[in-house]
Amino acid sequence: MKWILFFGALIGPSICGREKFFGDQVFRINVRGGDEISKLSQLLNSDNFKLDVWKSPSTFSHPVDVLVPSVSLQPVKSFLKSQALQYSVTIEDLQALLDKEDEEMQHNEGQERSNNNFNYGAYHSLEAIYHEMDNIAGEFPDLARRLKIGHSFENRSLYVLKFSTAEGKRRPAVWLNAGIHSREWISQATAIWTARKIVSDYGKDPAITSILEKMDIFLLPVANPDGYVYTQTKNRLWRKTRSLNSRSPCIGADPNRNWNSSFAGAGTSNNPCSEVYHGPHANSEVEVKSVVDFIQQHGNFKCFIDLHSYSQLLMYPYGYTVNKAPDAEELDEVARCAAKALASLSGTKYQVGPICTTVYPASGSSTDWAYDNGIKYAFTFELRDTGHYGFLLPANQIIPTAEETWLGLKTIMEHVRDHLY
Ligand SMILES: [Zn+2]
Repeated sequence: MKWILFFGALIGPSICGREKFFGDQVFRINVRGGDEISKLSQLLNSDNFKLDVWKSPSTFSHPVDVLVPSVSLQPVKSFLKSQALQYSVTIEDLQALLDKEDEEMQHNEGQERSNNNFNYGAYHSLEAIYHEMDNIAGEFPDLARRLKIGHSFENRSLYVLKFSTAEGKRRPAVWLNAGIHSREWISQATAIWTARKIVSDYGKDPAITSILEKMDIFLLPVANPDGYVYTQTKNRLWRKTRSLNSRSPCIGADPNRNWNSSFAGAGTSNNPCSEVYHGPHANSEVEVKSVVDFIQQHGNFKCFIDLHSYSQLLMYPYGYTVNKAPDAEELDEVARCAAKALASLSGTKYQVGPICTTVYPASGSSTDWAYDNGIKYAFTFELRDTGHYGFLLPANQIIPTAEETWLGLKTIMEHVRDHLY
């Protein structure tokens, strides 16, 4: 056992140079109304504390999760006390969680090398995910193909798995997107599990079989490969792309604020150092542009689902306005059924609603773009958990998360299958 760990440490991706978070903590701050939100905004907007907001203040009174660097712990506590804001510490020792995650990953890599088997209950490198996509396509040549739809800023391939039982026909299609925010590792892991689930259940589960008899499914498990590699080599908590900004030393744009739907509107920033920087123009991020071009050239997408984490939410347009989407009632009903199916497995509760009023305004998001471009069934999942581990969801929750999410995804796809337009 020790030998495998040691061997794994030698051959795994280099994490030696990765940013450390010694003494850093995650705070959950309770906000009960507008007054408290404005007090908290002072804190969040101050550059002095170097805070990383994990979960932003939302339209309603939801708690806010913030990563507080060790040097800011005392000043932040004093500020919260002075403003009478209540908080608790959700992650006491961030680095300990990161070390554990890392050790598990290295250990798993060693094991996978010796038994040559992809462990779906573990987190993986980009290379391992791409390799597994190739394996799936190789094992099921009549059902799955791996397509390259473009490349990232740092020239990594963007690979999609296409599941089709009628190759050559341009059938109505579903787009499943994951990993657009690189630190949300449960989304990439859920996506690759889902790919395996589709090929294993086709011909056995009547639901997925009948879905694939009418529609094709395209699955992009790692929509932001540069960011994903960066989370494994430099900074586990990187969210954005890795593109260079001409006007700033700060790197990257938020690829979920870069789509051409109310670009640069509410809930975005024009500051390249911000986590929600929208980029210099819509589709400036080549990762976003590649998906947009592919979907537009195809022209027959009926459903677009984007997997994020965390918060356990299932949302639909709009993010850029509080106005109701014309199909809001139907989307709400579908989302409620999907959330119910998801909860049926192990009781995981999801909140359902439009993006803007369920969390906060967000312009230039993938789901709004899809909806505004005629893809009616547009949904965003925020997967597990609700903040206990946040982005650092332990690997032993990958399979339970993927399994329950699959029930939600199937419910949506079955509705699409029965309501093609
Ligand atoms: Zn996200």
